[in-house]
Order: sequence, then structure tokens, then C-alpha cells
Amino acid sequence: MKAEIISIGTELLLGEIVNTNASYLAASLPALGIDLYWITVVGDNLPRMKEAIERAWGRSEMIITSGGLGPTEDDLTREAIAGFLGEEMAVDEAQVKVLEERFRKRQMPMPARNLKQAMVIPSGCAIPNPRGTAPGWWVERDGRIIVALPGPPGELRPMWERQIVPRVEGRSGGMVLVTRTLKTFGAGEALVDEMVSPLFASANPTLGIYAKPDGVHLRLAAKARSRLQAETLIAPAEARLRSILGDLVWGVDDDTPEAMVGKMLKERGLWVAVMESFTGGLLASAITDVPGSSDYFRGGWVSYTAETKIEAGIDPQLIARHGVVSAEVAEAMASTVRTRLKAHIGISTTGVAGPSELEGHPPGSAFVALDDGQQTRSFKVIFPGDRLMVKRRAVVKALLELRSMLVEKG
Ligand code: ATP
Repeated sequence: MKAEIISIGTELLLGEIVNTNASYLAASLPALGIDLYWITVVGDNLPRMKEAIERAWGRSEMIITSGGLGPTEDDLTREAIAGFLGEEMAVDEAQVKVLEERFRKRQMPMPARNLKQAMVIPSGCAIPNPRGTAPGWWVERDGRIIVALPGPPGELRPMWERQIVPRVEGRSGGMVLVTRTLKTFGAGEALVDEMVSPLFASANPTLGIYAKPDGVHLRLAAKARSRLQAETLIAPAEARLRSILGDLVWGVDDDTPEAMVGKMLKERGLWVAVMESFTGGLLASAITDVPGSSDYFRGGWVSYTAETKIEAGIDPQLIARHGVVSAEVAEAMASTVRTRLKAHIGISTTGVAGPSELEGHPPGSAFVALDDGQQTRSFKVIFPGDRLMVKRRAVVKALLELRSMLVEKG
């Protein structure tokens, strides 16, 4: 089955927003055996939207639109689809009730213009949108499918996953591509490459190796008639990779370092605290991005200057002797915050985000330290990239070194 994505919105054409919906949808189509041949972006303009749909209809069996389903006058996706197909829109009473209920729950009267969101055409039906007021459309005619989804990614993604994927699965007739990514940390790309080299000869699944900010990723990709068959091809290859790589593997697919360490800390009943210098709170922010982090995160300090480090309890002599960007100060920060905040493990960062150098250290130099009361360890790294990238990489390094410490502790 050939597919085309039509991303609708003048904001996209003006470069005000990035078309993450198209990349998200594109990434999920190979697993469904659907070949994506075109992505079109069109503004909120009725004739041009109709033209885009007409072109897609002539060359694709599945058209997925995103955006333009809101209640305002420039939300024209429904009008464009109905107009192109020559069908009349009519109010779907069941959808009116759903909308009224949503507004009732928010204790707001429903504006009359929202009624247009309850309209459907004879060859279509509404796709419920649990997160917003705009239901989607599923339209089937002349052997073609049009799926219309709202623009906000937080609405589009669950609708796609829960309501569209189950309808489309098994209908494409094409070869399904399933991937599995193993994320490793602790060994460089060349070493990992050497360790897994026997698997590179495999034609299905194929193996790819990629160096990423959170370590080296290994991607297995299998093609088969069905998802199950592809998964059956991947399973033994994944088991083999895991037996070669052992504890170097810290996660799979969408796993993040913060969620992985969060799970491990919770399982072990351990608390962490952080003292950050150049990461400016980014480490605490990443840790608290995970729901339930209050079960293992005590808190932390951002101490940006030498004075605030001293006020927090770091020995001024140590700073005078080694400088703030040093393994000694990083280690003192980790052990001080661990003791003061009554945590099992203290983590610290100190470094140079750039663009200028500091205390003779080039931009990107960073020290990350961990202290668990029995041992203190620190790591010196020089990260490439701009300020934000350097800060992010130091956070990932701190989290993945924490993971290694937890693995060793058992
Ligand atoms: P709403 O009911 O919120 O108006 P809608 O279906 O009309 O939804 P739009 O008005 O086109 O959607 O877009 C609403 C918001 O959704 C945009 O401001 C933007 O933040 C986000 N959005 C829209 N299209 C995309 C896209 N292709 N990729 C990422 N985000 C998008």
C-alpha cells in the first residue's frame, strides 16, 4: 500500500513549527508494511488543500492528513476532503454529545462554532479524540483511505496508535519492517563494532551501528510478511547481541537514561541528590521528567559560582588548589550533597559549557562525580557541541554512570 502524508498549516510553511507529525507518522509506517512515497505540506488555504488531496488521491491508496480540524475559520481540512469527494457534510449527533460532554466537564458553554467539529461525510466516520475537541476522520471510498488527524502531537499520536494502527494492521499487503534498537554505554563505537562483528553478515535481520549522545546504538531490522514473523527473526539475533554485550546494554528503543535509572533506584529503594554547576539544573530536570521520581529523588542544588559552592560546604582550600573545574571539587560536591540531603548517592557536575575556556579548560570539558558513601568516582570528558549540547551530554553521562554504579552494586 502506497501512502502520502499531507501536513496542513500555514505555521509549517512559515517555519514557525517543525513538522514533527510527519516524521512521527513516517517512522511508524514501515512496521505496518506501508510505503510512504510523498510528504506534502500545504497552508490553510482551501483550493490548495483540495489540490493537494486530489494529487495524493491519484497516486496513493492511503492519505493521512494532520492539522486543520479545529473550530476556527482557517481550519478547513473537513471542507477540503468533503469538497474534493463531492460529499455533503452533516452533523453527527453522537459527536455533538461527545463535544457537549467535554465542555460540560470543563464547566464551559460550548461555542456554536465547535459544532463544525461534529460534522462527517457519508463515506466517513469520526475517530474519537480523548485529548481534544477535534475528532479525526476515517474515510473509505473507491479502494482508498483518508485519515484526518488533528495537529497537536499530543492528540495525534495516541489517536494514531490506538485507533488507526489497529485498523490498518494486516491490510497493507506489503512487507513489514520491524526494528529493535539496543542502547549501550561504556564502550566506544569501534569496540562495540568489533564485539558484534559476526552479526553483520546477517541479511535479515540486518544490523546497523550508530554512535549517539547516549552511547552506541545497535539497530536490528527485519522484513517479513507479518509483524510476528519479523519479531521471530529478530528475537534470536537480539538474544545473541545481549549475550555478547552483557551489562553494556542499558535500554531498548524509546528508553531514556532518566527512566532507566529511575526504575533501578526505585527497585533498590535508593535516594539520589544532585549538586550541579555548569548543567544549571538540567540534571535535576531530567530526573524529575519521570513520573514517580519523588520516590527516589531527594532534591538538589544549582551552585554556579565558587562562592555558592563554598557556602554549600565545599572546602575553599580545595577550590583554591584545584580550581572549580576539577575532579577533586566534583567529588567533594557529590559527597557533600549526598550527606547534606541525606541521600544514598550524590551526583555532581562541574565543567565549561563554552564558548570561552575556563581555568585553562577548553569548552566542553566536564567532570561528573558520584558518591555512594563507600566510594567516590569521577569522570573527565570533553564533549563536542554548543552550550546546550555539552550540558545535555554531561547529564546523560551522569545518568549512565549512575546506572553503571547501580549495576555493580547489584
Ligand atoms: P486545534 O483543534 O488545536 O486547532 P488542529 O487540528 O486545527 O487542532 P492546527 O490548528 O493545524 O491543528 O495546529 C494546532 C497546533 O498543533 C499547532 O499550533 C502546532 O503546535 C501543532 N501542529 C500542527 N501541525 C503540526 C505538525 N505537522 N507537526 C507538529 N506540530 C504540529
